Amino acid sequence: PLPDPVSDSAPPVDEHPLRIAAVLEHLRHSADTRITHPRRFRAGQLRALEKMLAERTGEFVDALNQDLGKGATEAKFSEIDVVRAEIDHAQKHLAEWMDSTSVKVPLALQPAIAKVEPRPLGVVLIIGPWNYPLQLMLAPLVAAIAAGNAALLKPSELAPVTSGVLAKLLPMYLDSRVYAVVEGGVDTATELLAARWDHIFYTGGEKVARIVAQAAATHLTPTTLELGGKSPAVVDNHLLPTAKRLAYAKFMNAGQTCVAPDYVLSFADTDALINRLGQAITSFYGKDPINHQDFGRIISRNHFDRLVSMLDSGDVSHGGDYDEQTLRIAPTIMRNVDLDSPLMTEEIFGPILPVIEVSSFDEALEFIAARPSPLAAYLMSESPRLQSIFSDRVRAGAIVHNAPLAQMVIPSLPFGGVGASGMGSYHGKFGFDRLSQIRSELSKTTVIDTLSAIYPPYTWAKRKI
Ligand code: NAD
Repeated sequence: PLPDPVSDSAPPVDEHPLRIAAVLEHLRHSADTRITHPRRFRAGQLRALEKMLAERTGEFVDALNQDLGKGATEAKFSEIDVVRAEIDHAQKHLAEWMDSTSVKVPLALQPAIAKVEPRPLGVVLIIGPWNYPLQLMLAPLVAAIAAGNAALLKPSELAPVTSGVLAKLLPMYLDSRVYAVVEGGVDTATELLAARWDHIFYTGGEKVARIVAQAAATHLTPTTLELGGKSPAVVDNHLLPTAKRLAYAKFMNAGQTCVAPDYVLSFADTDALINRLGQAITSFYGKDPINHQDFGRIISRNHFDRLVSMLDSGDVSHGGDYDEQTLRIAPTIMRNVDLDSPLMTEEIFGPILPVIEVSSFDEALEFIAARPSPLAAYLMSESPRLQSIFSDRVRAGAIVHNAPLAQMVIPSLPFGGVGASGMGSYHGKFGFDRLSQIRSELSKTTVIDTLSAIYPPYTWAKRKI
């Protein structure tokens, strides 16, 4: 049965500040002993995380279903499997990532050894959002563990069941001297942000990102900000496979995906595209998508109301129905939309796809360039010429041709934004490097004093060197 919809105004009770201070002190103290540094420790913790996901899949799937109405298959592959792929990739490459690299020393400084070595940063704070409440906590944690850090996780209070399961299970599998979960809402996050961290890894909206960046400035803490934005999809090819890929990427998790196509720019046969999008939706979720087990719900009443009010900003071509009781909004296609309304000025983050007609490919590029840089930009076209122009001219965290969302699950691709969609990227080695200090090390002997050539006084002979 569906639990009561979570209200934005009733988050769980925040953790007591005294407990937060104690947890933090405990982590800091353990991290200072460098127990997280050896490769064996890191590999062991990655194995333990993998074990947790393998043994507790059912509990996580159930929690995700309660929080977001996610179907079991979607919950498994979009949350659990993504993290398991990250763990697997990190395990395979950990030794190579940790390796130091020797670099060439200029002749005047020889003999000497110079190397670059990734070192752990210390204690990382990971704050996550509600839309992929498991994946977006654990994928950064994989990077933190691989890089040899301690970490404190603060899951979103808007996905309370997943948050609770994480808080219960993580200490049963990982070493609780260096990894902890603290549950709570804004008060807890504020309390945590006031402390000193070695890195803050934040995933969420832009408004809170500014608060995070300001708090980080107090201690000059480096941050990774994984934000959102309006990711466009420019459509040149109106065939059914295009419509299916767009509908799949848009309506997964009821549109509450940071890299979902936010809107479509169509410069050819828009009627055909809209028809096929409708066909695609019906083929995925049937004639009654609101009650389909594979179609999720909106996270909270506030977000539901925000999305329903967007339905007035243009003509509904497909869908448009909703159910207040279950917080479900049918996959909806809109056209003739008001470009100055919140539907087109804010990130939609729900199952509404506006299709905007533009007169040419060039106009589509100008439309994108006139707005903040998104997390991803999608081009649905088989034309190598258009693909090349698109990747050359569009500024976005990722450029993807014909496969929206698929960029996320390739651990060797960096995942992150640019400009308003965030700073810093992770996944695979990019996450490892992001949460490491890339340190220089130089070593020379004093047995032969080869540096005497550069000491003062700078005689005529020395000035010639
Ligand atoms: P949010 O910014 O409201 O909340 C995220 C986290 O910030 C939560 O843990 C919350 O407790 C905390 N928080 C909220 N208010 C705070 C405050 N005043 N001070 C300190 N902490 C506070 O974001 P959200 O609504 O949960 O997530 C939606 C946004 O996240 C969208 O913009 C989406 O695109 C983006 N997102 C980005 C990615 C990515 O990987 N780049 C992934 C998912 C979501």
